[in-house]
Amino acid sequence: MKRASIISIGNELLSGQTVDTNAANLGERLLSIGIPVVSSYTTGDDIDSIIRSFNLASSDADLIFATGGLGPTDDDVTRQAFAKFLSTELQLQKELLQKIQNFFISRNRQMPSKNKVQAYIPAGSKALANNLGTAPGIMAEAKGKLLIALPGVPSEMKQMFEESVLPELQRFAGGQAVVIRKLKCFGAGESNIAELLGPLMQRGRNPLINCTASCGVITLTITATAKDKDKAQQMAEKDEKSLRNKLGELVYGTEDQTLAEVVGEKLAQQKKTIAVAESCTGGCLAKLLTDIPGASRYFTHGWVTYSNSAKTSELGVPAHLIEKHGSVSEQVAQAMAQGARKRAGTAFAIGVTGIAGPTGASEQKPVGLVYISVDSDNGCETKRFIFSGGRGTIRLRAAQTALNMFRLKMRY
Ligand code: AMP
Ligand code: MG
Repeated sequence: MKRASIISIGNELLSGQTVDTNAANLGERLLSIGIPVVSSYTTGDDIDSIIRSFNLASSDADLIFATGGLGPTDDDVTRQAFAKFLSTELQLQKELLQKIQNFFISRNRQMPSKNKVQAYIPAGSKALANNLGTAPGIMAEAKGKLLIALPGVPSEMKQMFEESVLPELQRFAGGQAVVIRKLKCFGAGESNIAELLGPLMQRGRNPLINCTASCGVITLTITATAKDKDKAQQMAEKDEKSLRNKLGELVYGTEDQTLAEVVGEKLAQQKKTIAVAESCTGGCLAKLLTDIPGASRYFTHGWVTYSNSAKTSELGVPAHLIEKHGSVSEQVAQAMAQGARKRAGTAFAIGVTGIAGPTGASEQKPVGLVYISVDSDNGCETKRFIFSGGRGTIRLRAAQTALNMFRLKMRY
C-alpha cells in the first residue's frame, strides 16, 4: 500500500498566524482515494529545515507532498530546498515563464521582475499548472518516491491537487481502495464507547476504527482498505452493523450530521413543531435548531428568559416556584418547558436552566449544574446534569444535551 507524508512550509504556520488547513485537506483527500497519510511535518521558510523535513518524510512514505514557499519573494525558498534535496540545480523553464507572463497579461498587468524566479524548477522535474495564481507546482520522482510541491494558498493548492496531481496518483498508487464511514454518537464518553467496542478498536485492524470527541459528540470513523472499492464497501458496512449493534441508541447519525439536523428531520417528517425556553444557554439551543435550512417547518418560538421576572411574565413560571426552589431547579425547568409549549401551541417544548459560571454557584448548586426539561403530550421529563469546562463549553454541552434528550424522547 502506498503511503503519504505531508510537509507544511511557512514561518506563518509556526508563529500561529496561519492555521495549517492544507495538511488537513490533503490528509482527508488522500485517504479518500486510498492513500493514508502516515506523518506530517511543519517547518519554517528555511532551506536546511525543509531539506531535513524532505528526508524525514521520505523515510516514512512513498509520496511526499509539500505545500507553501513557492511565492516570488525572497522568503519563499521551497524551490531551492527541493533542488538541493534532489542534488540538482534550478533551471529556467521558458514555457513556464511564458505562462506566468500570460497570467499577468490576461489581467492587464506587467509581470514584476520578482515573479521570474517562479519559472525556475529543479532540473528533471515537471511543472504543475496553476490556473489561479502564478506559483507553478513541482513534481519529481526520485529513489522510487514521488515528490510534489504545491502552492501554499489553499484554493490554489486544492485546484492543483484535483487537476494536475490526481491523474498522476492513479498511475503511481493504483490498485488500492479505501471506504470511509462515520457514525456520530452522543450520550457516552470516549472511554465508555471504547469499552463497549472492545477489540473492534484494536490498532492495526482493517477496517480501522478511530474515535474523536468534540463537545460531547463522539465520531467513530471506520476506514476499510481493500484491493477494490466493492470489497472495501462490504467491509465498512459489516463494521457499521457491528458498531450499531453494540452502541444502540448512542448512535444518532452518520457522516457529518448534527443532532439538530437529525431531530429537525424527524420533526419535519412527523409534521410536528417545537419551541424552546432558555436561560443559561442564552439562545444557543435556538441557534443550533435554526442553523438547519428549512427549520421554519418545525421551529416556531424561542425565548431567552434570563431574569426571574422574564420567566414569570413571558412563560408564566409561578413566582413562588422560583422563590421556593430557585431559578436553577427541576421545578423551574419543567415550568419553563410547559409554559413555552402552552404559549407557542407546539407539540414539543424544551426548557433549560442552569449555572454556566464562572460565578453564580453555591454549595448546593455548583457551576455546570443544568436542568433540562422536555414537554410533550406524553408528559414532561426533566433531568439534572453537571457539565464541566468553561462557560462556553457548559452552554454548548447543555444545548446539545437538550437536543439529545429530545431525540431520545421522539423515538416513542
Ligand atoms: P506561500 O505559498 O508560502 O506563498 O503561501 C501563500 C499563503 O498561503 C500564505 O501567506 C498563507 O496565508 C497561506 N498558506 C500557506 N501554507 C498554508 C497552509 N499549510 N495552510 C493554510 N494556509 C496556508
Ligand atoms: Mg510562504
